[in-house]
Amino acid sequence: MIVVGAGLAGLAAAWELDEAGHEVTVLEAKPRPGGRVRTLRDPFADDLYAEAGAMLFSETYTQANRYIDELGLERVDGGQPELPVLFHMRGERFAVGPDEQVDWPYDLDEEEQELEPVSLVQRYFLETLPPEVAELEAWNEPPLRELDELSLEEYLREQGASQGVLDLIADTTFLGRRIDRTSTLTSAQLGGLTGAPFALKGGNDRLPLGMAQRLGQNVRYGVAATDIRDTGFGVEVRARRGPRTETYEADRAICAVPLGVLKELEVNPQMPQGKEQAVSEMPYVEATRTFMQVKRSFWRDEGVAGRVYTDLPVGRVDRHPWGDPAGPNERSILESYVFDEAAAEYAALPEDERLEHVLEHMEELQPGFQEHFEAAVVKAWGEDPYARGHASWPRPGDMTSHLEALQEPHGHIHFAGEHTTVWSNSMEGALRSGVRAAWEIDEAAAAGG
Ligand SMILES: Cc1cc2nc3c(=O)[nH]c(=O)nc-3n(C[C@H](O)[C@H](O)[C@H](O)COP(=O)(O)OP(=O)(O)OC[C@H]3O[C@@H](n4cnc5c(N)ncnc54)[C@H](O)[C@@H]3O)c2cc1C
Repeated sequence: MIVVGAGLAGLAAAWELDEAGHEVTVLEAKPRPGGRVRTLRDPFADDLYAEAGAMLFSETYTQANRYIDELGLERVDGGQPELPVLFHMRGERFAVGPDEQVDWPYDLDEEEQELEPVSLVQRYFLETLPPEVAELEAWNEPPLRELDELSLEEYLREQGASQGVLDLIADTTFLGRRIDRTSTLTSAQLGGLTGAPFALKGGNDRLPLGMAQRLGQNVRYGVAATDIRDTGFGVEVRARRGPRTETYEADRAICAVPLGVLKELEVNPQMPQGKEQAVSEMPYVEATRTFMQVKRSFWRDEGVAGRVYTDLPVGRVDRHPWGDPAGPNERSILESYVFDEAAAEYAALPEDERLEHVLEHMEELQPGFQEHFEAAVVKAWGEDPYARGHASWPRPGDMTSHLEALQEPHGHIHFAGEHTTVWSNSMEGALRSGVRAAWEIDEAAAAGG
């Protein structure tokens, strides 16, 4: 069997196929496994690192936790910092400590003013969802199917959320991103997967690295698939390896590349119209992240954690690596995380203007920033030819219109990746999709196919 792509989806598929006794070869375009799970260690000093891709796992990630335990990896807490976090919203800069009440600069009623954004999400969203959200496998049946028809904004309004609540959720929470263009089913899955968050000690790439190591020589790096052909009896995958073109043959293949890359692959015979439409219509969002090393964690002088929720062009600011807060005199990394259209606009700036643009706003947020700044690296996911963006982000109706088509095998070619699951945009979704695709193949092999 051939697996194209050594992200979590491809690695899970290969792992399961290998366990089931199949011969498997994984073709990976990059010189490393992990795809959108990417820990950056360069150019940072003092063994610092930052997560350019996926940051947090959840205790509710059943497949991820299974592989993490199997590989004996260590977890570090990814919850809210104990120190106050900063907000810079609507021109006001203020710190909020755990359980501290603030006067939010939003049009909220008295009761809402007493709640922080996470509690508002709890009240207007998580507590109002039907119990069936716990069984997301049934996403295509009522009542979950109906959730897919509404945007999160429409749903929250139905639950009585005011414009002020919507604005606050949109500006400050992960769930509120693209609030008017996100399927409520997608939001329910992102909200439902919250649980206790954690990261992996030493970097999240320990998971894909551990999985790839287990597969050993079966993972070939620097091999970029360009076309996949179903021969009627099996598959042929053509790939570029440096200046050469190579052809790989197998009984079946799993295509575990991101949606944006799948659009560019040549698949023969052509995929059915419904599948092509799903591939081209499922939205894919962008993210651009700038990681900046500072010579000391100067924000600790102010007694705050380093995290800042902003409505400024720098997006959300956070500190890396996760885990214990750095002492005031220790080096650290701050990141600016810009999402969606703003991420594409930022990525489009000429290289020398990019950093200037971020540094200026960082100074506004954290006075003293420029004086402490040492080095930076920018990761624009939209520019990465083997990612083509951050992740799939279904609009209302997209799951019900496209998900089955995205999952559907095409002859001897199977499909995996976060975009083929109801758990889109998550590591858990990627892993589950890989396991599902491996089962499809195992079943087909058992049936003599
Ligand atoms: C900025 C960011 C933040 C995120 N935050 C979180 C988070 O906190 N928690 C969470 O759970 N998830 C998060 N995610 C989502 C999560 O990272 C992804 O859903 C998941 O890693 C996707 O895995 P995948 O295997 O489907 O795809 P990928 O990880 O993209 O893997 C695809 C692989 O295919 C390879 N490839 C591409 N084209 C070819 C080709 N032609 N030939 C051979 N190989 C090819 C790629 O190099 C890559 O290794 C985040 C993602 C991003 C980008």
